[in-house]
Amino acid sequence: MSNNTSKPIIGVMPLVDDERESLWMLPGYLNGIRQAGGLPIMLPLTTSHNEIVQLAKMCDGFLFTGGQDVSPELYEEQELDGLVIKNPTRDQMETALLKLALEHNMPVLGICRGIQFINVALGGTLYQDIPTQHPSNINHRQSKPYHLPSHKVNLIKGSPLSAMLGGAEELMVNSYHHQAVKDVAPGLQVMATAEDGLIEAVCKLDVHFLWAVQWHPEFSYTVDEASSKIFTAFVKASTDRYI
Ligand code: MN
Repeated sequence: MSNNTSKPIIGVMPLVDDERESLWMLPGYLNGIRQAGGLPIMLPLTTSHNEIVQLAKMCDGFLFTGGQDVSPELYEEQELDGLVIKNPTRDQMETALLKLALEHNMPVLGICRGIQFINVALGGTLYQDIPTQHPSNINHRQSKPYHLPSHKVNLIKGSPLSAMLGGAEELMVNSYHHQAVKDVAPGLQVMATAEDGLIEAVCKLDVHFLWAVQWHPEFSYTVDEASSKIFTAFVKASTDRYI
């Protein structure tokens, strides 16, 4: 940072509503960053390489938000008929953004689609539809209110997430997803799994900060300490990147 009163600027991937032909934002993504001491800005949806390079120069960290499904072509699978809703523009922008972020050791937090996209971009695969491909009794697609927990996750001992929570071995999380990580990408470490074996959090240990969770801290950070601490860890990493 140029001076110590500036907040780290976190570029937030926009949400896309195809029906309304709109970009939009859930306040929780922005306010979760703000309560952690960061200054969030919603990025434009662009595939211009020059614009993405300039955005990477402007920002101190990137939040990969929830949204449409990652295109199965990116992990070389046939699309399940009628069960996958794609957004190739986000796929393309996020591919460029993640590459730059990793090249420049910029902190990255992925949420929901975020963990799925990051896993695919680094060489992993996804379950395209949990009810079809990984049925279980666990409710991964809860109804409102979304700030309440839906299921437990087991935290991997010694993982940064468990360490941040004082060595906790489990955590209750909310859940609103129909896809999930299948094969973990090389270079990613699992930090949390659900009781049915689904992967719920990963990190990359050989960079300054890359965490991704399948749950939704943007809905629960005001009532759940672990959710708020995830934003805090991300913003802190974005603050001390240059130290
Ligand atoms: Mn879940």
